[in-house]
Amino acid sequence: MDRADVENDLEKVLLSQEQLHARLDELAAAIDADYAGKQLLLVGVLKGAVMVMADLVRRLHTDVQMDWMAVSSYGSGTKSSGVVRILKDLDTDLTGRHVLIVEDIIDSGLTLSWLLSNLRSRGPESVEIATMLRKPEAAKVEVDVRYVGFDIPNEFVVGYGLDYAERYRNLPFVGTLAPHVYGA
Ligand code: 5GP
Ligand code: MG
Ligand code: MG
Repeated sequence: MDRADVENDLEKVLLSQEQLHARLDELAAAIDADYAGKQLLLVGVLKGAVMVMADLVRRLHTDVQMDWMAVSSYGSGTKSSGVVRILKDLDTDLTGRHVLIVEDIIDSGLTLSWLLSNLRSRGPESVEIATMLRKPEAAKVEVDVRYVGFDIPNEFVVGYGLDYAERYRNLPFVGTLAPHVYGA
């Protein structure tokens, strides 16, 4: 299957590669300003945050390290329940560290609020959150997100790290899927 076939599955492009990159320039500048003179540990949440992390770190001048976590949300269907299991933990000791969680998307915010309190319990100097995308639902949960790329409508999106059944993560843009993909 080539890229043209995959793009046939899309209904519309929500955010182009150019829009994503331009916004990342701004986020990187803000992060550099906020962490000037400090060491920063970026914690990416697998697998979705791989693209954001890769594009973000290349724009940063801050002295950064990267580490990764994989978590799974128990829950039926497409909604997360807030009950989270760690599939892969960090290699890094967080004691005294400035930590920035890097996320692809915040939907209900349940996964992230769990992650936030989990990381805060490990004795870091600070923990903040950067997410490329945020849905309106996220506003209902008390998660203070320092850096947000884009607020998007309450639609299921793919691309730029985000999957549907593990596909479409490699698309360089964010889009919605055509109904035929869901078997409609
Ligand atoms: P939350 O706990 O915030 O509801 O769920 C966050 C996770 O659900 C994200 O990290 C992502 O894996 C998944 N998710 C939420 N919304 C979407 C979406 O629109 N598209 C895709 N592909 N995944 C989503
Ligand atoms: Mg994620
Ligand atoms: Mg997924």
